[in-house]
Amino acid sequence: MAAKVGCHVSISGSIDMAVDNAVQRGCTAFQMFTRNPRGWHAKELDGQVTAAFRTKLKESGIDGDAICAHMPYLPNLASPDDAGFSKSAATLTDEVRRCGLLGIPYVVTHLGSHLGSGEEAGMDRLVKGLNGAAGAAKNDVMILLENTAGQKNSVGSDLGQLGDILDRCRPAGRFGVCLDTCHAFAAGYDMRTKKSVKETFGLFEEHVGMDRLKIVHLNDAKGELGSKRDRHYHIGLGEIGEEGMAAAARTADRNGIPLILETPIDEKRDDVGNIAKARELLAARGAGGAR
Ligand code: ZN
Ligand code: MN
Ligand code: MN
Repeated sequence: MAAKVGCHVSISGSIDMAVDNAVQRGCTAFQMFTRNPRGWHAKELDGQVTAAFRTKLKESGIDGDAICAHMPYLPNLASPDDAGFSKSAATLTDEVRRCGLLGIPYVVTHLGSHLGSGEEAGMDRLVKGLNGAAGAAKNDVMILLENTAGQKNSVGSDLGQLGDILDRCRPAGRFGVCLDTCHAFAAGYDMRTKKSVKETFGLFEEHVGMDRLKIVHLNDAKGELGSKRDRHYHIGLGEIGEEGMAAAARTADRNGIPLILETPIDEKRDDVGNIAKARELLAARGAGGAR
């Protein structure tokens, strides 16, 4: 089976443009927003837009299981503030509905910040928001919990905690995980060598389970191991480096997991360049003796 590799693509203009942008970049997997990610308001999806999106996706030949939506930036599902929490939970419910209308199987969400109220309180809120959204939006869209870099007060950077949260999510079949390699590395999980990647995925299997893994955000890291900094970098050029990126990409690909890049665009490289690099690392299977 060909590797599913792609990047986050823009919906600027209209939502169905995501597919055009993905095709243009040679993506065989992609991530998108279903709305402006910087505001609370979302325009209702009309039937024309959802039909255009579905038609383009079908024509693209991209596997419908290799795409996901990402939640907007403002919601905080672990918020101790009642109004903030309600708004955030409502946004997640709405996103699950929108994905259902668009035929997108997964919505990736960050786990939020408890803002000083403590991990237990934050997790209680989060689980309530997650389960509420899965219950309210009656479709089969799966909510993917994304591990975090471990910034102050953030929930879900520890794989044990991520597993605990997932265990409390109901119905279980509506939940999975999106593993971000940059976030894991920033949270202290080494990924620089074949051996350390194997160990980190071993911990993932122990605490979460590979069967729960649906998407990998393949990002190199600008900050060092355990920096707790959420700074993505070009594939192979960051602190994780080529050997680690190759091992992580291969591990995911062997399990049929789509690899989605959220790497910067600058004078060094653009999305096409980073996708090419990821494919090159996947193709050089003999090189590091991977497998
Ligand atoms: Zn994310
Ligand atoms: Mn990510
Ligand atoms: Mn990030």
